[in-house]
Amino acid sequence: MKKIVSVLLCFVLTASFVPLAFAANGLQVDGSWKILVPASPNAYESFAAEKLRSTLSQVFGTEVETATEASGRYIAVGSAAAVDLSEVAANGYRIRVIDGNVHIGGTGVRGLQAGVYRFLEEFCGRKVYTAKITVLPTAGSVTVPADTDIVYAPFFEYTDTDWLSPRDVEYSMANGLNGGTYRRLPAEMGGTVNYLGGFCHTMGGLCETAKYKDTHPEYLALHDGERTTDQPCLMNPDVLEIAKGNVLKLLENGHDPSASVQIVSVTQNDNYNYCECDACKAFEAAHGGVQSATMINFVNQIADAVAEAGYENVAIDTFAYQYTRQAPTGIVPRDNVIVRLCTIECCFGHTLDDPSCEDNTALMKDLHDWNGICDRIYVWDYTTNYLHTCMVFPDFGTIQRNMQVFYENGVKGVYEEGNYYIDSCNVEFGELRAYMIAKCLQDPYCDLDSEINGFLASYYGPGWKHIRTAVDMYTEHGGDENGHLHIYLGANHSLQLTDREIYKIDECWNAAKREAATKEQKANVIRSEISWRFWKASMNKSEFSILNPNRFEEKQKLYRALRAHGVTTLSEGGYGDYYDCICIKYAPADEWNAYEADEIGAKTRRFFSRILERFVHLLAAFGLYYKIYNTFLSKTGD
Ligand SMILES: [Zn+2]
Ligand SMILES: [Zn+2]
Repeated sequence: MKKIVSVLLCFVLTASFVPLAFAANGLQVDGSWKILVPASPNAYESFAAEKLRSTLSQVFGTEVETATEASGRYIAVGSAAAVDLSEVAANGYRIRVIDGNVHIGGTGVRGLQAGVYRFLEEFCGRKVYTAKITVLPTAGSVTVPADTDIVYAPFFEYTDTDWLSPRDVEYSMANGLNGGTYRRLPAEMGGTVNYLGGFCHTMGGLCETAKYKDTHPEYLALHDGERTTDQPCLMNPDVLEIAKGNVLKLLENGHDPSASVQIVSVTQNDNYNYCECDACKAFEAAHGGVQSATMINFVNQIADAVAEAGYENVAIDTFAYQYTRQAPTGIVPRDNVIVRLCTIECCFGHTLDDPSCEDNTALMKDLHDWNGICDRIYVWDYTTNYLHTCMVFPDFGTIQRNMQVFYENGVKGVYEEGNYYIDSCNVEFGELRAYMIAKCLQDPYCDLDSEINGFLASYYGPGWKHIRTAVDMYTEHGGDENGHLHIYLGANHSLQLTDREIYKIDECWNAAKREAATKEQKANVIRSEISWRFWKASMNKSEFSILNPNRFEEKQKLYRALRAHGVTTLSEGGYGDYYDCICIKYAPADEWNAYEADEIGAKTRRFFSRILERFVHLLAAFGLYYKIYNTFLSKTGD
């Protein structure tokens, strides 16, 4: 009876008050709705429709059908949708309710697919938190407000990060990552924005500096009075021709006209040995006295050759990094030149636009200057502690604002470098940070707080609020005594915490462990807690306090936990043999990697380690053993 009444009611309402009824209640999309696809769909439409159909089938617990003719209620996809896309930016989308049906349209190579993923996230609550954790609530129906009209334009044309889960295809699609260095998305998903050839520091290869060492030393940089293969001379016309030829060769072999953009990196080698010949110096003197002048001049000419050859969707990328970070004057990068500004010197305890932080105001000046002459700035940003990667890196408070700063200052692409060696060193907050980064790249103005909470609840379980408290405390007390936080840091410059605060954070971790509901959640808590233990073991705090007679055993427990979690390196470029040294027991954890290098002296170290082990009980008090050991090593030059 009730059903008949509501059917009747519906009939009455449909007759005269459709818009009002939908505005009040929204559309109830359920398993009876069809996915409306064009009769001859292209690859993007086929992928988008099938993604929508299969996921909605899971949500509703019934097989949702596709149709090419409208009958009954439907969600129209691609060219079957009646949305006006004329105002939608490239690779954007529009989701709109029209006459009681849902229409999803997109532009470019990935707009439509992104629109479907947005629909699933927005209206079905689908979240891809990690490569292994996807949340998809089941329901009889989902509500789509009748006035829905979502228009999305990508904030960045290129989005990439090297953290772990972001390398996963499904994760990348759901969270909007499109860089091709750490993932390959198939063509129907929109493909990736790829760097042809190398991703960075390509100059030596493109200019073939090593090859001309003896025959043409004038091709090489003149630095400190000597020719060096470390960099080429950027004012030498023959060098330009060699580089041009190699870039065009790369394009002949790898150009994809259907890609949204393809990039060839023409970037300085990773050293400061730039050319100081008369021609280079004169050109730089006339253009602001900075080394970026010769770089832009060189790269512009390659970009011209690429444009003349008809490669319309190709951009030439160069660095504003270290000695080329400052913008030149009197010379402007071409439209098809990308300037990739690197934040390696910055502070991540303060936002980039914090006027009280000197390192960041310097970067902001450079960003502003480049933005004045370049419409295509990319950023290479940093999101881990490269010296002590196992230790908490409390940059959580700056990720979102920094992304907004990039967007508001004309940045068109962002690469967030993190712990790219995570396979050998994964005990911090890698997955949380990755998710925060991905969500901010997708939309720098997203409700990040609620994203973080949703992530924490799924990843760490019912005790997630304790982890949130700990993360917030890390953020509040992060950095040195002035709150500055750099990417090569010791423990004393990472966190400033009183014993009382340390106790409170210990309690948070204990509670989160107790309350974890699944084996996986508990394992995730334990994994991330190691970064906290590592900090304490570096600072002799809590269970590592010199007042605790079991502190050595605690250090060894930490060491065993690191090994059990597959940690074979403690820092970027580490050697993976830190465990050879008995100093694990006595030295602060953030000095362990001083014993990592398996270079000259490693044998001696191990020999003396064994002898000194016999005296440690006497010498261990107050770290005396370690100090003597260290003094010995510094005297022998190890
Ligand atoms: Zn030169
Ligand atoms: Zn700072």
